[in-house]
Amino acid sequence: MTAIGIFCASSTGLDRRWLDLADATGKALAARGWTLVSGGGRVGMMGAVADGARAGGAQTVGVMTESLVAKESADTKADELIVVADMGSRKNQMIERSDAFVVLPGGLGTLDELFEVWTTAGLGLHHKPIVLLDPDGFYDGLMSWLAKAPFVRPEALEKVILERSIDAALDAIARRLSVVR
Ligand code: AMP
Repeated sequence: MTAIGIFCASSTGLDRRWLDLADATGKALAARGWTLVSGGGRVGMMGAVADGARAGGAQTVGVMTESLVAKESADTKADELIVVADMGSRKNQMIERSDAFVVLPGGLGTLDELFEVWTTAGLGLHHKPIVLLDPDGFYDGLMSWLAKAPFVRPEALEKVILERSIDAALDAIARRLSVVR
């Protein structure tokens, strides 16, 4: 069963369009018969993506730390909720349990997760596709800065695929997974 790790904002009080993007991404993943691996919270886009995935019939796996169970409202509706001791284990578990990653707009936590999967891919520690799903150019500033940064290797930069629509993002993953398998 293909499992997709999704990283996105946990902040509350977000504009509806961000929640809709997360919800639609969850539903689209479900429509392909894929499993969601998320941070295991019910807040913000993270909660919306899990609810969307379940509404579409997907299996959902949440990975959360003990310390965040209350703060990020642990997703007790998840088919599997894995509670780990620390943030590093959370990222490692999410990476281990996922065949590919989709990164939606988010805050510092999302950036940390993006850079974790990106740098480990750059080091050849995994070969799992990473897609930045960015319909509105939220990440354009970051991506153009990185493209010009002298210390960033072009071959490492290429590990992240930028897509502007949900279908294009999931198609890009499907293509890469079919090549790998
Ligand atoms: P944010 O994008 O800041 O809303 O955070 C998205 C998710 O990343 C939340 O579930 C945070 O708990 C999580 N997060 C924040 N920092 C880290 C970290 N160092 N390692 C793993 N997850 C993190």
